[in-house]
Amino acid sequence: MISRADAAALDAADPLAPFRDRFALPEGLVYLDGNSLGALPKTAAGRLAEVVGREWGEGLIRSWNDAGWIDLPRRVGDKIARLVGAAPGEVVCADSTSVNLWKVLAAALSLRPERRTVLSEEGNFPADLYVAEGLARLLGKGHRVRLVPKRELVAALDDDVAALLLTHVDYRTGERHDMERLTGSAHAAGALAIWDLAHSAGAMPLDLHGAGADLAVGCGYKYLCGGPGAPAFLWVPKRLQDAFVQPLSGWLGHAAPFAFESAYRPAPGVARFLCGTPPILSMSSLDAALDVILEADLAIVRAKSEALTSFFVEAVEQECGEAVRLVSPREAARRGSQVSFAHPDAYAVMCALIARGVVGDFRAPDVLRFGFAPLYVRFADAWETARALADVLSSHAHERPELRRRAAVT
Ligand SMILES: *Cc1c(COP(=O)(O)O)cnc(C)c1O
Repeated sequence: MISRADAAALDAADPLAPFRDRFALPEGLVYLDGNSLGALPKTAAGRLAEVVGREWGEGLIRSWNDAGWIDLPRRVGDKIARLVGAAPGEVVCADSTSVNLWKVLAAALSLRPERRTVLSEEGNFPADLYVAEGLARLLGKGHRVRLVPKRELVAALDDDVAALLLTHVDYRTGERHDMERLTGSAHAAGALAIWDLAHSAGAMPLDLHGAGADLAVGCGYKYLCGGPGAPAFLWVPKRLQDAFVQPLSGWLGHAAPFAFESAYRPAPGVARFLCGTPPILSMSSLDAALDVILEADLAIVRAKSEALTSFFVEAVEQECGEAVRLVSPREAARRGSQVSFAHPDAYAVMCALIARGVVGDFRAPDVLRFGFAPLYVRFADAWETARALADVLSSHAHERPELRRRAAVT
C-alpha cells in the first residue's frame, strides 16, 4: 500500500522540487494539464511586461533592430534545438504546429516525387491528419494519407510511401514510439520520417540526430510553457535545408526580405522555413520559459516523469480499484509524461475533478487524461488526484446533470 506519506517522502527527495517555485501556480490547485497548456513561468510574465512596456511602448518600430526582434525566431529555435538533439541553425520558432507540419510535409513529398503515400497511424492527432489530407488534396496527383494500426506501421511501409508521419507520444494514450527504430524502418523502405514532438519536447531528452530523423515539428505551449497559442517550431537538419523550397514562400523566408524584390529567392538554411512576421509577444514569453527549462537536466526530468507517472498509476489503482481502466502503457519506459484512464462517464468525472481543484482533461470518447510536467508537478499532486478521483467515483459526484453539458474546449 502507498500513502500520502510516501508522496511526501518522494517530494522531499526530488532534485527538481525547487523548480516549482519558478512557476506562478494558483494556491491549492492541482494542475495536471501542462501537456495541453503549460504553466506560467514567473520570468515569462516579467519578460512580457518588459517587451510590452519598453520594447513595444517606447522602442516602437526601432525594436525590430534594437531589441533583436527580427532574429527572435532563430534565437528561440536554437534554444529549442538544445532540447531535441538538434544542432544550432536547424530549428526555427514560427507559426503553429499545424502550419509547420504543412511546410515540412510538403517539403518531404517534394523529395520523393515518385511516391504518393503519407503513412500514419490510426488515432494520430487529428490536426496532423487533417493537414496531411489537405495537402494531399491540394497536390492533386493521386497523393493519399494511409492510416493503419500502430502494430501494422512497419509492414505498411511499401515503395509508395514518401513519408512516415508520426507523433512521438500519443496525445490520448501517452504511448511513446521508438523513434530510432521506426525511422530506421522508414529509411529501409526509402521513405522519410517526420516526427511531431508536441507531447515530448521539454518533457524528456530527445535525440533527433541520434535517431536519424528527417524532419520534425513541435508545440510551444505544452511542456515548453510559452503560453496560450505560443508559436511552434520546426526542425530541418542541415543536410536537407537547401534541398527544397517550402510552399509558404513568405517574405521573411526570403534571402533578402528588405530588398523588396518581386521574385522569391529562398534564404539559405533553416530561415527559408519562416513565412510572415513573428508574433513577438508570445515568442518572447516562450523565450523566457525556455531559459527556465534549459536549466534542468532532461535526464533527471525524465527520471522524475517515470517515477511520478508510475506512482500515479499505483495510487489510482489502489484507491479506485476496477472503476477506471489504465489506457496508457503500464511500463514507464513506453509512456510519455502523461497517464490516461478510461471511464464510461469520463467527461463528467473530469468536470467533477476540476470542480474540486484537480485539473486534468477529457479526450473523446472516454479518456481521463492527466499530464505530469515534471518541473512543477509533485508526487503529492499525484496522490491528491488519485484520492479526489476515488472520492468522485464513490460519491457519484459526476452523476449530477449539470456536469454533462460539454464546453467548447475540453
Ligand atoms: C497540440 C498538438 C498540435 C497543435 O497544433 P496547433 O497548430 O498548435 O493547433 C498538433 N499536433 C499534435 C500532435 C499536438 O499534440
